[in-house]
Parts: sequence; C-alpha cells; structure tokens
Amino acid sequence: MKNRRIFLQKAGLSALALNLTPLNPLWALNEENIMNVAEDKPLRVAIMGLGSYGTRVANAMKDCKRAKLVGVISGTPSKIEAWQKEYGIPAKNCYNYETYHQIKDNPDIDAVYVITPNGLHKEHAIGVANAGKHVICEKPMAVNAKEGKEMVDACHAARVKLLVGYRMHFEAKTQEVIKMRMNGDFGKVLFFQGLSGFVIGDPTQWRLNYELSGGGAMMDIGIYSINGARYMIGEEPIWVTAQETKNDPVKFKEGVDETIQFQFGFPGGAVASCLSTYSMNNLDKFFLNGTKGFAEMQPSTGYGPIEGRTNKGPLTNPHVTHQTTQMDEMAAIILDGKKPLVPVDGEEGLRDLVIIDAIYKAVKTGEKVGLV
Ligand code: NAD
Repeated sequence: MKNRRIFLQKAGLSALALNLTPLNPLWALNEENIMNVAEDKPLRVAIMGLGSYGTRVANAMKDCKRAKLVGVISGTPSKIEAWQKEYGIPAKNCYNYETYHQIKDNPDIDAVYVITPNGLHKEHAIGVANAGKHVICEKPMAVNAKEGKEMVDACHAARVKLLVGYRMHFEAKTQEVIKMRMNGDFGKVLFFQGLSGFVIGDPTQWRLNYELSGGGAMMDIGIYSINGARYMIGEEPIWVTAQETKNDPVKFKEGVDETIQFQFGFPGGAVASCLSTYSMNNLDKFFLNGTKGFAEMQPSTGYGPIEGRTNKGPLTNPHVTHQTTQMDEMAAIILDGKKPLVPVDGEEGLRDLVIIDAIYKAVKTGEKVGLV
C-alpha cells in the first residue's frame, strides 16, 4: 500500500484515478503498476488442523486485507466439507494428512499454518517446508530445542520462511509498552513479572498427553511469560532457576507440569519472576518496572481486549482481533520482507524452546541453569 501511495504521489494522480484503472490500457501496461499489483496480492494460506484455535484463526482471517484462507488440511472429511461451505474453499485446495505433501503441485497456496498438537509441529512443519510452502507454526514451535532446530534447518534448506504464531508481537498495547521501554520511558528496566495460567479441563485431552503436548502448562501457557519477559525487557536471559509444584499427580502425569515458578537473570541486571499453571483461572498478568516507571497489563496475553496502564496513564490503543492483525502482518513479512517490531521467525521460536529446556532442567536438578 505504501508503494501504491508513493506511486500515486509520483504520478500526481488522485485516488479517483485508481477506480479508472481497468478502463485505461496505458495504465495497465505501466511497469510500476504491475509491480504494485503483485505487491498487493494476498498471502494465500491453508490451515492444517481444524480444531478450536484453527477455527478462531479462520474466522479472524475473514477481516484480513493481505492474507486469505484458501485451503485446508484435515483428517476429518466432515470438517473439510463444513469449512468448504463456510469459507468458500475449492475442493482442489483440500488435503488430508496422507495427501498434503501434494500441496507442492498446487500453485494457489503460498503458506500452510500448522495448528495441530505441539508434538506434531515438527513433522508437519517439515512436511510443509519440503512441499515448498512457507510455514506458519503455532506455539510452542516444537516440544524441545532439538526439534525446533531441525525445523529451522529444514525451512532454511527448503528456502521457505518459518514464522511462529506469536500474536502478541503485533498487539497494539503490547507494542506501545515495548516502544516506551525502547524510548527509555521506564528508565533502566530491572524487573518483570509474568503470570500465566488457566484451569485445564478434560483430563483426556492431548494437552495432558506428554506424547502430543511435550509437557504441561509451561508448553501451553507458561511460554507467554517466557516470551513476554524477553520482549518486555528487550534482552535474552542468561540464567534460569525453577521450582515445580504438583498437587494432582493423577491428572498431571510424569512430564506434564501443573505449576512451575521460574526466575530469569538478564545481562543488564534485570530479573524476572514468573508463574505458569494449569490450576488457576484468570491468571494473565505482566508487570514491568524500571528506575523511572512501570507498565502493567492485565489481561496481558488473552484474546483481548488487553488492558493496561503505565506510570504515565492508561494504554488506550484500540483492540483489533489479534489473529487478524497477525495474519496481515505475517503476509507483509512473507510477501514484502517487512521486519516486525519483535521477531516471529523460527529463531525466535527456538529461543523460547532453549529456555523451556533449561527450565525443565532447573526443575529436575534444583540448580541455576546458564543460558548462552
Ligand atoms: P485442538 O485440539 O482444538 O485442535 C487440534 C487439531 O489438530 C484438531 O483439529 C485435531 O483433529 C488435529 N489433529 C491432527 N492430528 C491429531 C492427533 N494425532 N491428535 C490430536 N489432534 C490431532 O487444539 P488447539 O487448541 O486448536 O491447539 C492447536 C495448537 O494451537 C497447539 O499447538 C496450541 O498450543 C496452539 N494454540 C495457540 C493459541 C494462541 O493463542 N496462539 C491458542 C490456542 C492454541
């Protein structure tokens, strides 16, 4: 759009001229206009995994300007049929888990958004990359850093982009606080608190099955506090300590964490104190403090609206459905090479996984674990 504006300014034309373009063959042949059309084409996305979050993303994409839902990958034919009707998806863009590799022969799909259980992300993301399509993968990007690194390498080798569904990186109030911190409004930042949790229901769901989840609350919701500590403080942690509490060992089996409190140290001298839990509802709070002031957000990572204030007053940025902004911004990253305020690439996803590995190690050993 920026290029379109620049071009219109250069040509000395009003926006009205835009409406006349189909009637003007000279305009249609103009080289700058051809480039412009290409730049404005949408990112054509297929969603893999038509579950609860996939449905949320699909609905949010109805309002996207740059991203368009054009395909599905699902193991359930009835869901495919329902989505075809709801989102106008042609049969030629519908796949299941056995056939989705054929997506490589489909020129009408640019990217696949992997929204399956965590333990399947690696296999699915690498499958998509090997089919030559860009990968958008839900958080956590994988179940450990080793798998995450394999995904980063596979996408690099296949020359496709790998992005992680960190929707908060595009949320307006979050970005406002990050910009204030960058601007020095809080002075030297010395403390972050991140509290992330909800009460998990059905004990038979994949989130409580180690094979599919790769862990417990930490993988699912605690990752928001990990990621938040990093983007709020603006540094990478250099050490971690962590302690686990398990009140229900039947529901939360071996490897599936119920509650973990963890602490980070940062190179600039800041510390973070965080809590991840599957046993407390409405726990969603960030607090950042520096030598000059503070920011607090509650809720801080839910679907919104996010609420918050700083020592300078309330955060007033309007709420936009997170996944709508995310998908439009990801389209700009993939199609135009736009650089986001906070990265959402595979390396970013991998950093959280390295930290999660270190948290689990700290819980197990009771020791302070260094992060390099
Ligand atoms: P869900 O259970 O509602 O959906 C998972 C989908 O994967 C289902 O359609 C299911 O049929 C499919 N699937 C494919 N193979 C499967 C298998 N072997 N076992 C189980 N399901 C299988 O889960 P969800 O809440 O949509 O979560 C999916 C992913 O999205 C997770 O990685 C989760 O962390 C992530 N998520 C992200 C956000 C966010 O705000 N960014 C929110 C919720 C979930």
